[in-house]
Amino acid sequence: MPLLTLRSYVSGAWAEGKGTLQTLVNPATEEPLAQAGTGGIDMAAALDHARTKGGPALRALSFAERGALLKAMSDVIQGHRDEILDLAVKNGGNTRSDAKFDVDGATFTLSSYAQIGQSLGDAKFVVDGEGIQLGRTPRFHGQHIAVPRRGVAVHINAFNFPAWGFAEKAAVALLAGVPVVSKPATSSGMVAHRITELLLEGAVLPEGALSLLMGSAGDVLEHLGPQDVVAFTGSGDTGIKIRSMPNVIRHSVRVNVEADSLNAAVLGPDAAPGSETYDFFLKDVLRDMTQKAGQKCTAIRRVLAPSSVAAQVRDDLVERLRSVTVGNPAQEGVRMGPVATADQLQDVRLGIGQLGADGRIVFGSAAEVQAVGAPARKGFFVSPVLVEVEAGAAAPTVHSREVFGPVATVVPYSGSAEDAAGIVARGGGGLVSSVYSEDVAFTSDLVLGLAPHHGRVFLGSAKIAEASPGPGTVLPLLVHGGPGRAGGGEELGGLRGLGFYLQRVALEGSRPVIDRITGNKGS
Ligand code: NAP
Repeated sequence: MPLLTLRSYVSGAWAEGKGTLQTLVNPATEEPLAQAGTGGIDMAAALDHARTKGGPALRALSFAERGALLKAMSDVIQGHRDEILDLAVKNGGNTRSDAKFDVDGATFTLSSYAQIGQSLGDAKFVVDGEGIQLGRTPRFHGQHIAVPRRGVAVHINAFNFPAWGFAEKAAVALLAGVPVVSKPATSSGMVAHRITELLLEGAVLPEGALSLLMGSAGDVLEHLGPQDVVAFTGSGDTGIKIRSMPNVIRHSVRVNVEADSLNAAVLGPDAAPGSETYDFFLKDVLRDMTQKAGQKCTAIRRVLAPSSVAAQVRDDLVERLRSVTVGNPAQEGVRMGPVATADQLQDVRLGIGQLGADGRIVFGSAAEVQAVGAPARKGFFVSPVLVEVEAGAAAPTVHSREVFGPVATVVPYSGSAEDAAGIVARGGGGLVSSVYSEDVAFTSDLVLGLAPHHGRVFLGSAKIAEASPGPGTVLPLLVHGGPGRAGGGEELGGLRGLGFYLQRVALEGSRPVIDRITGNKGS
């Protein structure tokens, strides 16, 4: 049977790529599932269609109406949840629980932004803050507003969250009134492809509001102009390539980069083994190591424990890792699936060797694993791996190399907040790090030490253990992104996320005229 070819949706029609196509496989069995490519697609025309059809249609709507579109998108995905989960298991190597994390995260983010739209009501742009009296009398007035850009938002996503990655970017752009050209990572693109098909079949969005590139980005970014934006999630190296494109520089194309991150979890000196806080900490570390086979940009990579309990932390983690069943996620009882691609597997294996050289591997290895329910010698499986380093070790790789798999390193520290913050900062900027402590003074000191280096800091107290999904979960109302290695970007954060897609402009003039323009209402 010929392999299914996934098409792109551009310029108002489905288009099949020409030339060499990339094969998408099941990472647990290596069975080919589909093929895709963007050869021959007129990217300039695709962008223009979005700008000229989708942009005006979205801008004609109020925030509440755009919010209603997001709610409809969320409902469509929810209505086909099982089918999408099955695809995520097959094409993403996800366990069902991993797949739910991705797909439910998508619907939740869309519905959260739908609510924000509703709260902004019938406005079509944002009135930003209070008006300002600029002269001696109130007549000379200033007011900031933020209006939708007239361009297109190109969204380039990583392979690990094909549903959430699509939705978390699209929700914000569409609510802002900017059309989207979405490009999922090719290897795991079946989920985003099916979601787009469903949204188009349901005629949920105005024509031109959503396009899909199924395959490589080709020359799409070369056609971006001054009103366009790119939101990219992936490796730091690709982020650099995008940022340094001549037209991106020349036209000051806005670029948001979400890249690598060496997230840390710090156990406070008060959180003794056996305490509720200690157990909460272990649970979060373990979840982050194994969920999505560790392929989460927010996963805990560095486990900081006071030197006095570091050996205990190591032993407790090793004990728990022993019960993780690695295998084909389609099989009952499998707790952790494969990594996404052969390249990923190779990169993770290499990284394990490099991390091991900084200290020693105390659980797992880079060697082949016998995966439950997978054909012999097939699938991109690796065991969970725990590394430990000596207190005060230079450990250059631990603090500079993100091994994007089920891998973490125990790093002892003295027990002082200052020492912990200094070690974490060696990661060069991250998405999220966390503190597990009930000691408010220690927590405050450490949080303020971590804050300049992160987009989010998670305060892991036993008091929130029941309610919390852990630091690895990105929430739509909190910002996601981080400085330095993490890409320097910022997404989500409720209303804040819209700023990337809007042009803020200061109005300076006569108050009655400005009041007329803004409807004299802030939002
Ligand atoms: P990648 O190679 O950079 O790929 C990411 C995306 O960029 C894919 O859609 C890829 O398309 C596309 N791409 C590759 N080269 C491109 C180019 N020259 N121009 C335009 N697009 C290009 O990253 P990856 O290795 O697949 O992803 C894993 C990395 O993503 C990890 O380092 C992880 O930390 C990071 N990540 C970060 C976040 C975050 O929110 N900060 C979230 C998830 C992942 P193809 O698939 O078609 O090659």
